[in-house]
Amino acid sequence: MPYFCNTKISHMKILVLNSGSSSLKFQLFDMPQTKVLVKGLAERIGEATSRFKANDYEVNQPIGTHKDALQLLTTYLLDDKNQIIKDTSEIVAVGHRVVHGGNTFVQPTLITEEVKDKIKELFSLAPLHNPANLTGIETAEEIFKDAKQIAIFDTAFHQSIPVENHKYAIPETFYEKGIRKYGFHGISHQYVSREANKILERTDTKLITLHLGNGASATAVRNGKSFDTTMGFGPMNGLIMGTRSGDIDQSIIFYLMDKLNYTLDEIQTILNKQSGMKALAGSNDLRDIETATDNGDNQAQLALKMYAGAIKKYIGNFTAQMNGLDALIFTAGIGENSQKVRELVCKNLDVFGIEIDKKKNKNPKDYQGDISGQDSKVKILVIPTNEELEIAKQTFDLMQS
Ligand code: AMP
Repeated sequence: MPYFCNTKISHMKILVLNSGSSSLKFQLFDMPQTKVLVKGLAERIGEATSRFKANDYEVNQPIGTHKDALQLLTTYLLDDKNQIIKDTSEIVAVGHRVVHGGNTFVQPTLITEEVKDKIKELFSLAPLHNPANLTGIETAEEIFKDAKQIAIFDTAFHQSIPVENHKYAIPETFYEKGIRKYGFHGISHQYVSREANKILERTDTKLITLHLGNGASATAVRNGKSFDTTMGFGPMNGLIMGTRSGDIDQSIIFYLMDKLNYTLDEIQTILNKQSGMKALAGSNDLRDIETATDNGDNQAQLALKMYAGAIKKYIGNFTAQMNGLDALIFTAGIGENSQKVRELVCKNLDVFGIEIDKKKNKNPKDYQGDISGQDSKVKILVIPTNEELEIAKQTFDLMQS
């Protein structure tokens, strides 16, 4: 049970929830020790083939709703065999990942009815994510009635981006209507940039964090704050991704509509789900593309070249904007695991003082993630992201205050 000291809660169990439209990822932390008590997920919610996994326990059974998934979790937590909690009231706070906080939410936020209404207002800005996030919140409110519900926004870290980097050169009326760069993956960029500063033992740093997963974005982080990022008003801009195009010329959209008779919905689907690496190399899984490259597949080789090229362009852009670079950080599924992508990205960047050590790059873990060459002026780091831990920490800090 949590105990209270001078009205500050100094020790508590925090549940972190990341709700997608048909999935629910969760981790239960003992804070501030950051000990993970339970980690798992429910996936394919609403389908016949749903799966629930918590630590070593796994079950395949239909899970109709997010509430059913949370109920499975509660049963697991309360089970005598697992000895995790005796009562749901032991969970003092639930930290929720919420993708879009618009201009409204710049900090971890205690969820109230008013906050939920604002999250609803932002549905149009993140139609795939915010509704699912709200479902997670409402379900957790029902099941963990005693817990404080806290929202941690993926866009919040990027609210420090200065106006010259977040405003588009379009008529002012649209800026007034909230059309600006918001940026995404903020929780991940914040987490790895803080970890990088610990390694550098300074906070007055110029960093580029590369979150390369199924979705991908790069962020320029100056003195611990987001200064610019590749995603914009929505999560399609910037780097080439698994199924998203990244930067394209806007006129392509007009041409597709006017001359080739595609509807807006079809164009959305093309740019969100049928583009990126899937379009270039036939798969959105980088492991397949690497295998194809090894087998001499020209399309796969071109796709990887373009993938790395898009990242390089932003390394140049951000280094110029910050007038320097102290560290380049690779994270997420591809950033953490793909030796080939890291090598291609860093190749021929000695002009910026970026020189990778190929031997260290084979197995970064053996070198505490530091894969910089001996003469590299810029540190090249591989830092596993941990969005759940970041959410737990921010939730804990808010509870403390
Ligand atoms: P994430 O969205 O962070 O889970 O990253 C997912 C992507 O990471 C997948 O699409 C894979 O392409 C990539 N990935 C995962 N493991 C590896 C690996 N060992 N080597 C190369 N890519 C990987």
